[in-house]
Amino acid sequence: MEIRVGLGHDTHRLAPGRALVVGGVRVSDEFGPVGHSDGDVLLHALTDALLGAAGLGDIGQWFPDTDPQWSQADSSLFVAEAVRELGDRGWRVVNLDSTVLAERPKIGPYRDEIRSRLAELLSIAPDAVNVKAKTGEQVGPIGRGEAIAADAVVLIRKGS
Ligand code: MG
Repeated sequence: MEIRVGLGHDTHRLAPGRALVVGGVRVSDEFGPVGHSDGDVLLHALTDALLGAAGLGDIGQWFPDTDPQWSQADSSLFVAEAVRELGDRGWRVVNLDSTVLAERPKIGPYRDEIRSRLAELLSIAPDAVNVKAKTGEQVGPIGRGEAIAADAVVLIRKGS
């Protein structure tokens, strides 16, 4: 059996009057990301972690933000595509650990829903998915509520 680890990070600026989607779950209609797709930081970090684990580059190479086909795209598509590319190469996801950093809105109440959605996208059990929520302690762009960020780590395996 071969195993690999992958790391992903993403940050988006927040602005009023936009929908905020985190891990495929809509968590606010008041403050949302400025981005080309739906701006889902957690799914972007996860996509990078998946691609990174398999040595397949990064999200910007696969889904350029200059490509109009990804404008307002549902970021679940990026994860699904990455999972498919890994599957084509014999890789299966073992688990995901992640952290969402946001001062507002609070992500905690949506944690279970996000976890279920991520498990579904990765075709793994919910107990193989972890979502941690942290604030920015009122320091820096995240702490001032100007940005949201996410980190993701995945383990993938090939063979038995
Ligand atoms: Mg992004």
